[in-house]
Amino acid sequence: MERQADLHTHSTFSDGEMSVGLLLQKAQSLGIKYISVTDHENTRQNEYIQEILRYTNFEIKVIPGIEISTDYQSHEIHIVVYYHPEETKEINAILEPLREKKLNRVKRIIKEIEPLGFNFKKFSLDNSRTFNRMCIARYMYYNSNLKTIEEVFKKYLDNNNKEKNKSEYPNTKEILSKLSKLNCFVGIAHPDFLKDWDKIKIIQELIKEGIKGIEYHHPIIPDYLETKVLNFIQENGLIPLGGSDFHGYDTKRRELGKYNIPNSSAEYIMKYLKLF
Ligand SMILES: [Zn+2]
Repeated sequence: MERQADLHTHSTFSDGEMSVGLLLQKAQSLGIKYISVTDHENTRQNEYIQEILRYTNFEIKVIPGIEISTDYQSHEIHIVVYYHPEETKEINAILEPLREKKLNRVKRIIKEIEPLGFNFKKFSLDNSRTFNRMCIARYMYYNSNLKTIEEVFKKYLDNNNKEKNKSEYPNTKEILSKLSKLNCFVGIAHPDFLKDWDKIKIIQELIKEGIKGIEYHHPIIPDYLETKVLNFIQENGLIPLGGSDFHGYDTKRRELGKYNIPNSSAEYIMKYLKLF
């Protein structure tokens, strides 16, 4: 069983640090055969990739993907969505309001940090990207003497007026119901909440709403949980998903090429979506 698929990565179209072209190049050089650039609430990375692939001869196969933050009974549930490019417009109609909310949240947080002496003048709020706290953290990291991204979060972002800046994620079921009308494949991303295995109930409920796969191999899923999740996947006829969740050079734990999953998962999704 070959493991050369990484179906969870990020580029500069959300909170990643690497451009999509460079990301594809790096992935290919590491022997990755299937990749998905699952930027948060965005499809533009995939549109851009289509252009790159049209004019270059990359061998790596790219499955259009997105990650969406949702809320289910006060649990933050991230989902990964793989879709057919023909559905871009419809998917974007779902994502647009979510991106807008995240942008407004980031603007609110910046307004609170600015008086502490940080200058955000060079922080570009380019609307082809999705903004979140990681984007602020990275900017602060590169424009200060703070030593790590973690330090930025600890000092400025983790306690930053938590209630007022609380994310307002959409309800998981609502999003799944909208997606169920389109040609896409939806999975649960990094379910580390399953450290409390009773919460498998959440997943059982969401399977009824159209979840077809679960990430089992991911930097934040410990080995013991990986085995448990994989067993659950097999018992329930789901597709094993996962990937590095690579964001760039400064988040070293999430290394490209270190969290590959079986090629058969990528091949299944491509067939399911009728890609290629
Ligand atoms: Zn991610």
